[in-house]
Amino acid sequence: MQNLTDQEMKWVRKVWISYWYIIGVQFVAQLFSYLFLPYDAQAVEFYFYVLLYPTLKMSLTVSLGWVVNKAMKKYSFHTLLIAGTILAILIIKLNTDIRIISALFLLPIFVSVIFYRIRLTLFSAILQLVGFLFVYITDESYRNHLSNFDVVAIPCFLGLCTLLASIIMIRGRELQEALRHTMTAKQELMIQYAVIRKQAKMDSLTNLYNQASFYEHFDIAMAYGGDRSSSFFLALIDIDNFKTINDTYGHLVGDVVLARVAKVIKETITPNDIAARYGGEEFALLLFETNFDKALKLVETIRATVFSLQHEEMAGTSVTISIGITSYEPAMSKEALFERADINLYKAKRTGKNKIVT
Ligand code: GH3
Ligand code: MG
Ligand code: MG
Repeated sequence: MQNLTDQEMKWVRKVWISYWYIIGVQFVAQLFSYLFLPYDAQAVEFYFYVLLYPTLKMSLTVSLGWVVNKAMKKYSFHTLLIAGTILAILIIKLNTDIRIISALFLLPIFVSVIFYRIRLTLFSAILQLVGFLFVYITDESYRNHLSNFDVVAIPCFLGLCTLLASIIMIRGRELQEALRHTMTAKQELMIQYAVIRKQAKMDSLTNLYNQASFYEHFDIAMAYGGDRSSSFFLALIDIDNFKTINDTYGHLVGDVVLARVAKVIKETITPNDIAARYGGEEFALLLFETNFDKALKLVETIRATVFSLQHEEMAGTSVTISIGITSYEPAMSKEALFERADINLYKAKRTGKNKIVT
């Protein structure tokens, strides 16, 4: 016995409510046919034995079923189907003169289909066969209104409908499975897309933004600076004598040093700042500090930290970096800003390296 999902509970509730509608509809239909169609019964007989008592019995069935359903949640489906069967039997017994009325045995079979559980539908089908035999044996009027052919045809008809219901469910499950497959595939694609997008923006060696991505951020920063005349700072960093490092210790060691310098940069900047690997051993920083002194202090920390690192791979020696920094001023072009930072970097290189020129 499986526990019901929230969605199944919701549908169980809906079916219980629709049982009340069925009771209401049969009540109105009985009354209508008594009042407006030739009806072969005394008023007292009709109102008590056709209208009132059976309606009370049906209401009692649904109410009792609802209580059991609440008390034994595990048996919700079965309670629902048993109540539906009793409801069908009560209505059939009231209308034995209507030959098609036996089709009401289909009601609980269809109810079971809502839940897409084949075993439940089989349970319901067996219940209907038992219900049919019960009415057939106990109700003389019902028996009299059925031909020999009907007695064979009705169970066959119920069996056929059960088969059809099962096919609908199997097909439904197939669709559900296909949908689940599509959803999973879509999810995987979305994850892949996100990963690829991130990869396209990042430099794999240093895990900083790449040059293309740096320019995107640069454009945004220019628009931001232009809009609110709020300043930002551009710093260009270049590792000193990197060619010698490569030549002396090898390219692989050069890579290690590059990644280490990048790590220092990443750990020093604030979350608002943007750091990119601009070229081979060059980095570009967009700094959004509140004033120039703070930006300067930040790059000075980077310079000093890099200088303080001793690299095992380079016999315990350290590397240095040169930095050119400049602040954005309103109405300045991107090229002009970049050129100023580049001139400062060049000056730092020419005047001894391992320094910052502003
Ligand atoms: P300066 O102090 O003037 O900047 O001298 P430098 O040697 O650092 O500058 P130069 O431009 O002459 O050399 C840069 C070197 O950086 C050359 C290139 O082989 C090396 N390089 C560029 N990209 C990489 C990389 O991804 N890994 C390694 N290991 N080396 C790289
Ligand atoms: Mg260089
Ligand atoms: Mg260099």
